[in-house]
Amino acid sequence: MHRRIRTLNAVVFDFDGTLALLNVDFKAMRLDILGLAASYGISDDGLEGLFVLEMIAEIRRRIGRDAPGREGAFADRALQLVTDRELAGAARSALFPGVREMLAELRRRGVKRGILTRNCLEAVTAVFPDIGNFSEAVVTRDDTERVKPHPDHIRTMLRILNEKPARAAMVGDHPMDIRVGKEVGALSVGVLTGYAGASDLQAAGADLILERAADITVCLD
Ligand SMILES: [Mg+2]
Repeated sequence: MHRRIRTLNAVVFDFDGTLALLNVDFKAMRLDILGLAASYGISDDGLEGLFVLEMIAEIRRRIGRDAPGREGAFADRALQLVTDRELAGAARSALFPGVREMLAELRRRGVKRGILTRNCLEAVTAVFPDIGNFSEAVVTRDDTERVKPHPDHIRTMLRILNEKPARAAMVGDHPMDIRVGKEVGALSVGVLTGYAGASDLQAAGADLILERAADITVCLD
């Protein structure tokens, strides 16, 4: 599978589980949000299948419908709870070995690098304080109207990097990373250092699966 598929001018990386140890307690985060929702009289009906940020958007919509005017306070508090969990995770996370070297190698070869995450910038920079030396762009949930798996997120990144999707790779540990890359026509690369195993990444349509993101240099000339 380690064949060179196309010339890559840019590589876009997910962060947690891809460049750094995935340590956010998403289960506890969901319970935080559902508990907050319950205090607004919103049940968890139909929320099971949603990712946390999308779950917050849906609860916000329901509060706006049932108790207009209270949805803003809910959303502010919910995002604070999410951020608290992310920062707690970041405090126990670390970059994977070889990540800085790999990013420096991409830079040396003239390949643009970006980091695309649903996490907040504060948590990312807590784990990777010198990120600005290694990546030209970091696009978090605060920098896009809609986050991945919505393609707006990666389109925002590609606009910043000024690169065509066909010349870019999206590298991530989650099926949503694979899907968002495919959606825009980028090379979708799964890695086995985080959330999903090879079969789930393959099922999502990965063009390539690597043990770890640092191996992405095999895709270069
Ligand atoms: Mg991830």
